[in-house]
Amino acid sequence: MKDLKDYVRSIPDFPEPGIIFRDITSILQSKEGLKLAIDKMQELLKDVDFDLIVGPESRGFIFGVPIAYNMNKAFIPVRKKGKLPCETVSIDYELEYGKASIEVHKDAIKPGQKVVIIDDLIATGGTIEAITKLVEMLGGEVVKIIFLIELKGLKGRERLAGFDVDAVIQYD
Ligand code: 5GP
Repeated sequence: MKDLKDYVRSIPDFPEPGIIFRDITSILQSKEGLKLAIDKMQELLKDVDFDLIVGPESRGFIFGVPIAYNMNKAFIPVRKKGKLPCETVSIDYELEYGKASIEVHKDAIKPGQKVVIIDDLIATGGTIEAITKLVEMLGGEVVKIIFLIELKGLKGRERLAGFDVDAVIQYD
């Protein structure tokens, strides 16, 4: 049986010289790769007591929704500013170049709810750190954060110190 890493396509110098981009579309375009990815991520949650899954657009949706469906939980989308129609809470955070703003519906997370955050990949951890703050602004408790891929060299895990963080595969 193939390993999940066998399905990841690594593209040198994308989107800029010196960066190796880990492409997850090559996992999705294989039915075996897609199943393996969802199964392995879901396995990380087998002993976790939680109420709902939160994931950022767009790749957090790809992995978060099937896991929420399989585990009979709700899925809460975090979106770029201006896309959600009802009352939201939002947060600004720093990107490598410039700033971004993301938001979530205010009524989507209730105080005391136990939240799992899911995304495809952790690089610097900035995106997910911002999402932990959004969850906490609404009174939710982040009980676990899972990724398919961790880029260890960028030390995102240090940024999320204090949270229970897990990834299925790692690259140095
Ligand atoms: P961070 O906030 O951790 O620095 O950036 C993580 C976000 O950037 C993730 O949502 C991820 O989708 C995207 N990203 C950064 N580098 C890569 C990469 O090499 N491959 C993929 N698939 N996404 C990346």
